[in-house]
Amino acid sequence: MSFPKIRDITLRILGACGIEAPPVPMRPILARFRASVVDSEHIAESALIRSDGSWVIRVNRQLREERRAFRIAHELAHIYWSHPDNHQGDPALGDRLERYCSKFASLLLCPHQWFVMDAPAVDHDLARLKNLYSNVSHEALSIRLSYITPVVVTIYDNGQLYRRFSSPGLGHPPDGQPVENGVREQVDIYGKFRQSSGSIKWGGIKRGVRVRGYPVFSGKFRRIILLTTPAGGGGAHDDPDYEEDMPYPFPDY
Ligand SMILES: [Zn+2]
Repeated sequence: MSFPKIRDITLRILGACGIEAPPVPMRPILARFRASVVDSEHIAESALIRSDGSWVIRVNRQLREERRAFRIAHELAHIYWSHPDNHQGDPALGDRLERYCSKFASLLLCPHQWFVMDAPAVDHDLARLKNLYSNVSHEALSIRLSYITPVVVTIYDNGQLYRRFSSPGLGHPPDGQPVENGVREQVDIYGKFRQSSGSIKWGGIKRGVRVRGYPVFSGKFRRIILLTTPAGGGGAHDDPDYEEDMPYPFPDY
């Protein structure tokens, strides 16, 4: 790809704004892009409006904090690529622009180069990562985790399975394995982090696993995220270019 890596672009922007650690604040980046944010009721999520050499990002006022940050970062990407020096005449950019903007947003709020250092330093613990990357959702952080360490991610919303996925190449067993159910029930009852270990058979192999369960409760909405980590690893993507292949945009970032 002749196009510069988005993770290098976003890191350069953060550096220029003097931002060196998460959480990434929007204010200095908005100032650098000569953009302001206006809350709105009458808009699906966000929109970008140019006015006299500066920019206005309109954002639906009801968005969650993480979704709001993501949409602002997405619109900043549109501003970035509106400049001829930045799109470098790439003829394919037009088709891919939305995907690139979401990728830009993800990597602006959770830079690859930071995350690959921070995640192992906190034992790939979702709660500790959320403390660092406070304006990135638990779901997005768990997706990013799945690309740098072998893990099965299972998300339940109000008791219903919402999604279950794993690191590329790892695969996963059907949901509702006993050790996973046990952790999930404990999290549900106590509303606190719980973990357990056991074994699960998948891919023809019985694997020792550690299961960690995290409550992500907000009012009546009860999300529980399980991270199931196989002993001995295997399956995680250690290709340094991995994020080029990541699925974008993330659902419900
Ligand atoms: Zn867009």
